[in-house]
Formats: sequence, C-alpha cells, structure tokens
Amino acid sequence: TMIQISALPAFTDNYIWLLQDHRTQRCAVVDPGDAAPVQAWLAAHPGWVLSDILITHHHHDHVGGVEQLKKATDATVYGPASESIPARDVALKDNDRISVLGWDFDVINVPGHTLGHIAFYHQGHLFCGDTLFAAGCGRLFEGTPQQMHASLSRLAALPEDTLVYCTHEYTLSNLKFAIAVEPGNPDTAARLEKVTAQREAGIMTLPSTLALEKLTNPFLRVDETSVKEKVDERNGTQNRAPSAVFAALRAWKDKF
Ligand code: ZN
Ligand code: FE
Repeated sequence: TMIQISALPAFTDNYIWLLQDHRTQRCAVVDPGDAAPVQAWLAAHPGWVLSDILITHHHHDHVGGVEQLKKATDATVYGPASESIPARDVALKDNDRISVLGWDFDVINVPGHTLGHIAFYHQGHLFCGDTLFAAGCGRLFEGTPQQMHASLSRLAALPEDTLVYCTHEYTLSNLKFAIAVEPGNPDTAARLEKVTAQREAGIMTLPSTLALEKLTNPFLRVDETSVKEKVDERNGTQNRAPSAVFAALRAWKDKF
C-alpha cells in the first residue's frame, strides 16, 4: 500500500506525523500532543477520515490532543499498555503487531525516556517518539541509562535504510553536542553544516535515516574509540563498557 507521510507542526518543536492512505482517504496520526493542527488539516481536506491514533508514551506533548480527537472522530487509539494513555482503545506490549491503514506495525518496547515508551516499525519506517532523535536521544525521565542504551541498540539493529520519524526538531542543537563529542568526525561536520542551512531556511530536518544516525549520532556510537576516549578524557576514567559510555554521554548532554 502506498502511504504518504507528512508532518503537522505543533507547539514550538513537535511534529505530529500524518499518514495518508490515498486509496481509502483514511489517515492516521502519531503522537497528537495538540488536536488543533490535526483538526485544521482534516477541515482543509474534506473527505479524509482520521481512523487511527498511535501513541508512543504518556507525556502531554504526545497525548494532549487525543481526547478531543477521539470526541471528534471514530479513531482507534493505540498506546503502550504500561502507561496511562487517555482514551486508549488498544493496549500494546512488546512484539505486538497491529495493522494500520493496511500497514503492519511491529511494537518495540524502548524504555528509557519513559518506562513504558514504545516505538512502531513498518518496513523501513520507524516512529520512535522521544527515544531516538536525529543526532541525539531523549532525556532519561524514568528509565536508567542501561535501559536507554539497550533500547537504542534495538532500534539500531533495524535495517540501515530505515527512515527515522522522531517527534522533535532538536537536530541542530543535538549536532552542536555531537561535534563537541567528535570534533574529528567528517560526517558530523557535514551534517551540522547542512542542518544549519536547513534551519536558517525554516526547513524540517526529519525524517533521518538509521545509516546517517549510525555515522553521526554519538548516542549510537558509544562503541567507537573516538567517543569512548572523549568520555574517558572528560571523566578521568578508563575501559568503560558501552552502556557506561552511554551513561556518561547522556549526563554530559544534560548539562551541555
Ligand atoms: Zn516525552
Ligand atoms: Fe516529547
């Protein structure tokens, strides 16, 4: 099935991903933190029906619009079983599979940002909320660094050409950190230059690809000598396990 994916901007730096099935004129949204952009889109596109709402985690900027959309439509709300999600119809666990607009999505548990956080994957398309960001990762509000490191490792094992649809436009500030971690990484430098120009022109920097993330995202590169040495140098430590390098990197970014 051909599904068109676009972004509805919300708040200051959120994207509500909109999936459109042109064959049936049904659509779905991911993490509608605000109902208004979705309802404005529906009003501007008569004939389109919102049939599904996918939720990655319980934070307000991801679920804030759900109840209003649920009242205005017949959409089915999918969300993590272990979190409190407003108007949830289908509670999802790790490795569940759901069908949305004719696409099968695998549910992947990715604890770290929150404990119940899930991601949705369909053949080369990853909706990962606030877990993996372009050139960064989510803050650890509920989980441990070890959990987040394991979650990111799981996402990194998906095919290289996977498109990464995360929720926030944080790419530029993430890359400023990434270049501080790896000043000698030419891919990071090139990406920083490109993203700086995109943001100056008001252009969205998403989706990313896993291949590009593996080259430039320091949180996916904790096995790299350059990243480990930088963390060891800052913290005066040696021979850290990758999850410990990740923990130190995340703590550094929190204060960056
Ligand atoms: Zn969040
Ligand atoms: Fe968020």
